[in-house]
Amino acid sequence: MIEFPMADRLAALPPYLFAEIDRVKAQVRARGVDIISLGIGDPDMPTPEFIVEALAASAKKPENHQYPDYVGLLSFRTAVADWYKTRFGVALDPATEVVSLIGSKEGIAHFPLAYVNPSDLVLVCPPNYPVYPVATGFCGGTVKNLPLLEENDYLPDLDAVTDAEWARAKMIFVNYPNNPTAATAPRSFYEKLIKKARESKTIVVSDAAYTEMYYDPTDKPLSIFEIEGAKDVAIEFHSLSKTYNMTGWRIGMAVGNAQLVKGLGKIKENVDSGIFQAVQEAGIAALVHGEPYAEKFRAVYKERRDVAVAALARMGIACRTPKASFYLWCKVPAGQTSAAFVTKVLEQTGVVVTPGNGFGAPGEGYFRIAMTVPVARMEEALSRIAKL
Ligand SMILES: *Cc1c(COP(=O)(O)O)cnc(C)c1O
Repeated sequence: MIEFPMADRLAALPPYLFAEIDRVKAQVRARGVDIISLGIGDPDMPTPEFIVEALAASAKKPENHQYPDYVGLLSFRTAVADWYKTRFGVALDPATEVVSLIGSKEGIAHFPLAYVNPSDLVLVCPPNYPVYPVATGFCGGTVKNLPLLEENDYLPDLDAVTDAEWARAKMIFVNYPNNPTAATAPRSFYEKLIKKARESKTIVVSDAAYTEMYYDPTDKPLSIFEIEGAKDVAIEFHSLSKTYNMTGWRIGMAVGNAQLVKGLGKIKENVDSGIFQAVQEAGIAALVHGEPYAEKFRAVYKERRDVAVAALARMGIACRTPKASFYLWCKVPAGQTSAAFVTKVLEQTGVVVTPGNGFGAPGEGYFRIAMTVPVARMEEALSRIAKL
């Protein structure tokens, strides 16, 4: 057999930390145990029917059967700009400040290719969505980690980066509401970040996928562009995936600084040919008419959150009540590692939760619950854990 060694960039990937969990899960399933997965950040409720109908109608139009434009239909980009205006009070030019994405993961993964040269410094805040360091590594960039710690409300310490490092840093990834910690960021954090970034000419990449999963309508998560000066340095990634239960559809957007949007577009022009236009037209329907549905989904998650937080408190597991996202970031009981705890819970109860260290070393000592099962299943899962 001829061997085809994979490229160094793949060999350099961090080990897949969930392999052991997958193995145990298969074993537990083989024993016939009823597995409850609180492991995956994927909404369990279906996409609203009116969006599916919009897709069906658009799919029948022959003009949608040809190659789309890689930047997206102007009508979709306009719907994005209008939604940003309504939701955040942020003005965007749909022609130059919005690009459509095949899900925001695609855009986040491609963006560093436009701006990061080998050995450039990129700031990442672990525990983090794995795409940020992986995409940086694919460009040959060097990651500097700014850990998110509980005592700092899971905000990175921007003063821990030296002036020399800021000067070297090409970009910084931030993600609020945060996956996996469920933390949100106050205006003051963004103000300081933008000041630092402007002074040091660092690109700010804001991943805002969870801004619509909030629980307090008087304290909604921010878009970075609500802060003055952000457009000088920032690009924000957003998505229809979490807001409208559309993870399978693959549609998202990047907005903000026109130069940065253009740079990402330049990469996309060379690697993909955009999103099926019928999906974009369904996306317009979601952005224009989806708010009452998003409101309904928030109410469902809020009930799950309140039930889960109360159950965790009863069993003495520390967990902050999240203001946003559908995650709970919980402390592993004292004296156990994340991996040992998660494996024990799976083996003895059939409940899947995610070990915190899978998102980076600062996640050690924590585990993540995704509230992506109906409330009765959630109660069942937590009562099994309580009996441990
Ligand atoms: C789910 C998620 C996204 C959205 O991914 P899509 O590709 O748009 O489906 C982006 N960032 C984070 C942190 C996420 O958890």
